[in-house]
Amino acid sequence: METKNIGIKVSQPGAGCNDSNCPFHGQLRIRGRVFTGTVVSDRMARTVTVEWTEMKKLTKYERFEKRRIKLKAHNPACINAREGDMVKIGECRPLSKTKHFAVIENFGKMKGYGLLSEALAESKFKQKKKLEAEDARA
Ligand SMILES: [Zn+2]
Repeated sequence: METKNIGIKVSQPGAGCNDSNCPFHGQLRIRGRVFTGTVVSDRMARTVTVEWTEMKKLTKYERFEKRRIKLKAHNPACINAREGDMVKIGECRPLSKTKHFAVIENFGKMKGYGLLSEALAESKFKQKKKLEAEDARA
């Protein structure tokens, strides 16, 4: 199977696929912004949720705030990104109401992702406990 040059310097996927929305083997064109993030969910068919953080400057307070950015990206079979993988995503035409990015490179498992997701789950659990305790008091 022929692998297209997508115009961005990335390592080509090893396998082929029959996905028409694959940037390497289909018709999809990658143009616009490129980001690197971590896959936080792979439960949808051929779609992953990618998350990363950015520092945004607040000029008025001369400080930075940390912003968490989360969006959906198309995950073709030849790339097959799984939860915890570091990926590079590129902007493309809207593929659905909320999806206008596609995974173009998979760097493999992110270091310390297990601990990170555990910590997140724990903090959510604590938050829930706290809310429940407040409810009980009210
Ligand atoms: Zn492909």
